[in-house]
Amino acid sequence: MTDDEWESLCDGCARCCLLKLEDEDTGEIIFTNVSCRLLDQQTCRCTSYQNRSKLVPTCIKVTAENAAALAWMPPTCAYRLLAEGKDLFPWHPLVSGDPESVHKAGISVLGRVVSEEGIDEEDLEDYQADWPGEADYEEEIGK
Ligand code: SF4
Ligand code: SF4
Repeated sequence: MTDDEWESLCDGCARCCLLKLEDEDTGEIIFTNVSCRLLDQQTCRCTSYQNRSKLVPTCIKVTAENAAALAWMPPTCAYRLLAEGKDLFPWHPLVSGDPESVHKAGISVLGRVVSEEGIDEEDLEDYQADWPGEADYEEEIGK
């Protein structure tokens, strides 16, 4: 797979760009509705994709080698689905042919997040949020 083909697998949901909490006792990953400061909330794209690793050291580049181990990726993420041997959802742009379909299906963070800028890390617990696919996702989004 070429780099372009690999990149095209990303559905553009931007849910990997959300700040997350981890339950110390259970290890459960809890999503918030707070996005990385580099996320363009109007397009769900990174505003500095080429330099993201330098600007946000916690931003992990997803590769074929690490995709299966990234438990915090949303269950709808195409890379996770691929690693788990599952098919892409009908709303994935590569399936639908429409780059907007991930937004129309309500999977992306479009219009539903606030930036981390100005939010105190200690207050992050107040921003816990449920996202499609976190539980019973196959039933929830009609897979
Ligand atoms: S969660 Fe996966 S599919 Fe969604 S933006 Fe991140 S890498 Fe792309
Ligand atoms: S640096 Fe860019 S790709 Fe990485 S989490 Fe932030 S917005 Fe997303």
